[in-house]
Amino acid sequence: MTVPFFELRGVKKHFRSKSTFAQRLLAATGQAPPPPVLRAVDGVDLSVMRGEVLGLVGESGCGKSTLARIATGISAASAGDVVYDGRPVVQLRGKERLDFLLKVQMVFQDPYASLNPRMQVHRIVGEALRVHRLLPKNEIDAAVDKALTEVGLDLAYRNRYPHQFSGGQRQRIGIARALAVNPDFLVCDEPVSALDVSIQAQVINLFMDVRERRGLTYLFVSHDLGIVRHISDRVAIMYLGRIVEIGPASAVFDKPAHPYSAALIAASPSAARRKRDFQPLKGELPSPLAPPTGCPFHPRCEHAMSKCREVRPVLQEIAPGRSAACHLHTSDNA
Ligand code: SF4
Repeated sequence: MTVPFFELRGVKKHFRSKSTFAQRLLAATGQAPPPPVLRAVDGVDLSVMRGEVLGLVGESGCGKSTLARIATGISAASAGDVVYDGRPVVQLRGKERLDFLLKVQMVFQDPYASLNPRMQVHRIVGEALRVHRLLPKNEIDAAVDKALTEVGLDLAYRNRYPHQFSGGQRQRIGIARALAVNPDFLVCDEPVSALDVSIQAQVINLFMDVRERRGLTYLFVSHDLGIVRHISDRVAIMYLGRIVEIGPASAVFDKPAHPYSAALIAASPSAARRKRDFQPLKGELPSPLAPPTGCPFHPRCEHAMSKCREVRPVLQEIAPGRSAACHLHTSDNA
């Protein structure tokens, strides 16, 4: 059996809403309910194989960006483990921890917000090399130029500042910064959603070229199902902090097993198979502060049964390489 290169095991991220001392005291003595907990990520198991592109999709607010930040070590999980190359990241110390942080790089949604406006491009791209002394000083410029060239930026612009670039160029700078430290795994959080449609295709092509050249692995987070379908080997569908379906991208897009996956695909003009399949997604994403009982999708699901309102379905294998969390796929679904 092939061992996953990267895993999330039972990962949760819960936020407690702020409360005053008096509210906490009342809650502790049972005179008031405890402050509500926002379950942004609520028990995610996910494996990524070396060299694959795993797409992660869902509506805004489903927890996919929070999950991406946990995967890269930018945010800590409230519970569960991030496992890199067979070892829980929480056990890594010193150089091993730094190696993980360098090998797993993040490409952000808003390239402008993620670039220091006071730094010239060559300093932004070479910052990690300098700070962590990854290369001798006299080799850093050459490494920066190599990364800038790889992402298609003119070296004549290396002394410019982020505001002097277009959105697409800024995203290329963000990719060059990630590549400069020689990563294995890129976690891309909506990396093209802030760009014009004409530029999106160029940046997506760049991602795929770099993957081919360097043998990289991607977790590609997006709400654009057309892009995810185009670039992913497998796709995971997320709803209210949990994975509700995962499988090969072609199988999930052609024949979604979970009603939420089907609704999401039908509501995406770029992913619906035929124009007449297009149907807007019904209802609103419920608040993660008060998720519905049973299956959290039941208030919006046209297949909901009485069991769906009471029993939360677990993610289980429904075919080789495919899993879904839905009572339609359990044997006792009456
Ligand atoms: Fe719909 Fe029930 Fe499946 Fe949830 S478990 S998606 S409510 S059929």
